[in-house]
Amino acid sequence: MKRLFAGLVLLAVAFTAAFPDAAREYAARLLDPGEPQIRTDVRLYRHESGEIVNLSLEDYVTGVVAAEMPAHFPAEALKAQAVAARTYILKRLAAGGVLNNPHPGADACDDPRQGQGWLSREALRERWGTWDYYRHYYKIKRAVDATEGLVLTFEGRLIDPLYHASCGGATENSEDVWRFKVPYLRSVICPYCTDPYPGERKAFALERIDAALGTSLAATAVATGTGPGPEIEVLAYTSTGRPKLLSFNGREISATTVRDLLGLRSTNFAVALEGDRLVFETCGHGHGVGLCQYGARGLAEAGYSFEDILQHYYSGAKIEPF
Ligand SMILES: [Zn+2]
Ligand SMILES: [Zn+2]
Repeated sequence: MKRLFAGLVLLAVAFTAAFPDAAREYAARLLDPGEPQIRTDVRLYRHESGEIVNLSLEDYVTGVVAAEMPAHFPAEALKAQAVAARTYILKRLAAGGVLNNPHPGADACDDPRQGQGWLSREALRERWGTWDYYRHYYKIKRAVDATEGLVLTFEGRLIDPLYHASCGGATENSEDVWRFKVPYLRSVICPYCTDPYPGERKAFALERIDAALGTSLAATAVATGTGPGPEIEVLAYTSTGRPKLLSFNGREISATTVRDLLGLRSTNFAVALEGDRLVFETCGHGHGVGLCQYGARGLAEAGYSFEDILQHYYSGAKIEPF
């Protein structure tokens, strides 16, 4: 037996010497069966300094949760956010990575508009002050540690874990906001959407609208005495009753474009002409797809676990170790 073992070892050594790459690949597959090896260090581009820093996966996730969700939110909501943040970055680190990275050599950056925000410990100490820093940072770190290595998958693949601040009562189907129908980004009701400031009223002069949207409302307003005046109409609604397509004097513009160009908080808006101004009343904050952060807070306060929260907002997704 001993000789057989020694023989096998010799054979393995000879094999390794003859085919070093093949042997390495075989060893890698043993470590992580079925999947190619994935890096778990994060190369993060920091906008303020313009440098790329190397972080461990869990340090990166902690800085994202601290940047993306208020520290006073309940632990289960912070845990749900941690799993979403981890899934987001591991999908980028996976074989092939994500294309069109604006920062060559980095996996992600710290600008929330380009993905996920991230804050360093020094930045958090400055934001919170020393006393609150210890309280908040370790609360968030405990939430991250409690979910260490957990990710969201759908049919065995990492999901795109989209999230937003508040939906205003129901989340959106992905195809109502962007082009693609994603099976786990379905509209669900958000029973405990707890955003304390869900509504915003914004009034725009017609000239301002024309400049932003390329419309010609002001011209028709001048002619109101003789003509019909500006006509704004919602042509189509999403399944939750948000405007999807609008018409400004016959020019069709999607609600997401209107939101982007006018800087509205969400596409969950009502629009009305008041004199020579166009008034938008929005509800909720963000694109409305995937996890609703204020809804997650409400569910956590009502006693739901982070697993319940994630499974509520990501239809059919599984939570499993990476
Ligand atoms: Zn960036
Ligand atoms: Zn909500």
